[in-house]
Amino acid sequence: MSERSFEDYKLSDEIRRALALLKYETPTEVQSEVLQVALGNQDVVVKSQTGSGKTASFGIPICEMIEWEEKNPQALILTPTRELAVQVREDITNIGRFKRIKAMAVYGKEPFAKQKEELKQKTHVVVGTPGRVMDHIERGTLVLDQMKYFIIDEADEMLNMGFIDEVEAIIQELPSDRVTMVFSATLPKDVENLCHKYMKDPINIEIAATGMTTDTIDHYLIEVKEEGKISLLKDVTVVENPESCIIFCRTKDHVDTVFTELDEANYSCERLHGGLEQEDRFAVMDGFKRGNFRYLVATDVAARGIDIDNVTLVINYDVPMEKESYVHRTGRTGRAGNKGKAITFATPYEGKFIKAIERYIGFEIPSMEAPGHEEVTGRKAAFDEKISGRRVVKNNKTARINKDIMKLHFSGGKKKKLRAVDFVGTIANIPGVTADDIGIITIQDNLSYVDILNGKGSLVLQAMEHTTIKGKKLKVSKAIK
Ligand code: AMP
Repeated sequence: MSERSFEDYKLSDEIRRALALLKYETPTEVQSEVLQVALGNQDVVVKSQTGSGKTASFGIPICEMIEWEEKNPQALILTPTRELAVQVREDITNIGRFKRIKAMAVYGKEPFAKQKEELKQKTHVVVGTPGRVMDHIERGTLVLDQMKYFIIDEADEMLNMGFIDEVEAIIQELPSDRVTMVFSATLPKDVENLCHKYMKDPINIEIAATGMTTDTIDHYLIEVKEEGKISLLKDVTVVENPESCIIFCRTKDHVDTVFTELDEANYSCERLHGGLEQEDRFAVMDGFKRGNFRYLVATDVAARGIDIDNVTLVINYDVPMEKESYVHRTGRTGRAGNKGKAITFATPYEGKFIKAIERYIGFEIPSMEAPGHEEVTGRKAAFDEKISGRRVVKNNKTARINKDIMKLHFSGGKKKKLRAVDFVGTIANIPGVTADDIGIITIQDNLSYVDILNGKGSLVLQAMEHTTIKGKKLKVSKAIK
């Protein structure tokens, strides 16, 4: 439906350049609706599904409107999960790359002190889970004076997870002179109440569930007894032989069982559930994005908002208990115009859950037969061949936008009284380099990082080996992280 183009909006060259590299050619429907409202500084409540491009619909206007010079954060984005916080931070960083927007994520389980240090730096956008954001506010490490944009992402999930008190407490602390944007896949009463209470005449935007459940995803149901699921799973995966696949289970234990079974059968697989250490969760997500393995066995932790480059098959090993969860799980496939397939295993007793899901998505999920023995044997050779090879990741947006960027590490920082202007002044003086080639600068007590853009990293690195900054000789090297 969206006939608009990004040219129709007043966007700076820096943002346009990032969108081009991200290959965002035309705005998605939610973007074309939200962009003009948000660029006009109006409050907005948006009902839209994950996968619709909603992150950029708030990410683009925020990056556009942020004042780069301001040191204190200007936008706060709340997300229900840590994974989503990290994802949104990455999206904002990508969109704001050439405007040098500094976004950071704050979430539980990561050391508070590390985040506190980072928050002392110039930070434009803070993305976080409600508990940790509140912590930072209470301890005075997150300054709210300059907050102009407040976004609640996945509001329904946030309230489902019991974060209402934290969310309200955070809102109370924010300057009243701000723009508030709420995004939610569904608009239950408690979300509406929240909006009503804290927003100023919000514009309501409803993006029809874009047929993302119908147009781009083929849905199927296979009836199976509980004890037959593992063997059915193996048969289905052999026959479907997907490029990449997420298998959703109801509990951690099911994830562990299924993972162990597949691992023993030499599947290229990993698992993800809330019982794992946060670091491992990120490592698994990252590994899946990079194509290090093909099959991810997960609980609903992985179902929300996470942008994994086109998963081709979703299997609901267990029927989700909540109808919304069906949409989120299956929404991991068929993203951004790609085709996808979702197969749900249902035991004979789960008819009522299926009915509830069907009412919610508005159509009946067609049944399919379990693959027959012959079909499975016929496809086994092709399956074995694929499983032994690596998955090819075609579209890693972050890698593409970072292609020409080199992060340099300098062995001095605040304690040597160095400031961003000192780095800019020195680096922009190198023949062939201008201030436009300098990206995000992070200055810590004893070290600093400077992003060099446009493929000029090596040039700057070489030049800086013989150049002083503010009369000080620093060691310079390519940063590892
Ligand atoms: P989201 O709903 O924010 O999780 O985004 C869904 C996917 O669509 C992500 O992979 C985005 O990078 C991608 N995307 C967002 N906006 C656009 C656009 N205008 N054109 C193409 N892809 C987009």
